[in-house]
Amino acid sequence: MPQRKTLGLTAWILIGLGAGIIVGLIQYLLLPKEANEVIIKWVHDPLGRIFLNGIRLLVVPLVLVSLTLGTAAIGDLNKLGRIGGKTMGIYLSTTAIAITIGFTLASLIRPGTGLSIPIEGGFEGGQSPFMMDIFVNIVPTNPFRAMVEGEMLQVIFVAIMAGLAIASMPNRSKPLVKVLESADHIIQKMVGMIMLFAPIGVFGLIAEVIAGEGLAVFVPLLKYMGCVVGALFIHAFIIYPAYLFMFTKLNPIRFFANIYPAMIVAFSTSSSNASLPVTMSVAEKRLGAKESVYSFTLPLGATINMDGTAIMQGVATVFIANVYGIDLTIGNFLSVVLMATLASIGTAGVPGVGLIMLSMVLAEIGLPLEGIGIILGVDRLLDMTRTAINISGDLMATTVVAKSENEFDEELFYAKNKREDEDE
Ligand code: ASP
Repeated sequence: MPQRKTLGLTAWILIGLGAGIIVGLIQYLLLPKEANEVIIKWVHDPLGRIFLNGIRLLVVPLVLVSLTLGTAAIGDLNKLGRIGGKTMGIYLSTTAIAITIGFTLASLIRPGTGLSIPIEGGFEGGQSPFMMDIFVNIVPTNPFRAMVEGEMLQVIFVAIMAGLAIASMPNRSKPLVKVLESADHIIQKMVGMIMLFAPIGVFGLIAEVIAGEGLAVFVPLLKYMGCVVGALFIHAFIIYPAYLFMFTKLNPIRFFANIYPAMIVAFSTSSSNASLPVTMSVAEKRLGAKESVYSFTLPLGATINMDGTAIMQGVATVFIANVYGIDLTIGNFLSVVLMATLASIGTAGVPGVGLIMLSMVLAEIGLPLEGIGIILGVDRLLDMTRTAINISGDLMATTVVAKSENEFDEELFYAKNKREDEDE
């Protein structure tokens, strides 16, 4: 009997996304507001949150276990330093390019000129982080608090330290390594279990946004949104392929075909941190990067590398300056690049954090914080889009570093049928 072809999980996630958009739109256009709210409250919101909680629950154990093992496998400080150096080099350079693209495009398109939009509601700005504190706080006083509060940089610190200690005493640490390896497999299996729910979860998350906000809120800000989305596309589909080509000669189209399930999850959850279990599993099972590299690059990237967010900062700064008729100088531009990069190191990849970072950037160059009130309404959709770009940047850097360190399975990268459902 011929085998019946079944749809893979990634195809189902895509279907969940499409169905969410269609159902959300129908609901928004056809149902009265009250009925719409009831469906969101009783169906879409719970479905989305169950999925989101499920993947978030695995973030800290996954990072802790796999990064400890990854560091132990690398073993020597030299190699770790080299991987760290390359990773930071790519993260910082792509972020600076991202802000520049945002700025340049916004300066050309000039969103916000001649616009007089009533400012809705105020916005509580965040405090600028004191630069030294960002670095000092990487060392936690209590590892358990770091884990409970999901302080990723601190968890990363603890895991790397433990990994180095393990590598320095291979015999004595053998029993613990066995336990950690077993835990690593179990957690990855759990990620797989949660992912079975992904199509429904993604459906709920997307339907909630579209049914709740419709499309009308976007109209006055179309130029601003177009500018952000345009810059995001240029960055993702020109800059990332250029990096990939320059450093690895791998096919960029294959790269995106491999990572799109992670992009969809990032898009629907608006959180690089929450997407980590999926991003890591995509790196291992679809890209071909080895755990010794991605266990380090991805958690770090989810916390400090946010190219999509940086693009939004660039465009939003020009937009708000235009609305208030303020001219920006080259000095302002440089401050934005510096502040946006620093702010992205000091804040975690969670929904909406880009706006908090923006308030720090605006305060730094003396633009009115109230400007954020104007873009607040359309930020949800942009947050989704930029989060998808944020994690693509993390995965691009992971591919480059893994390939250059020979910690890479090129056959798997090009394989059509990925080893996604393997148990061991
Ligand atoms: N939601 C984004 C992330 O998690 C951050 C942001 O731009 O708000 O990567």
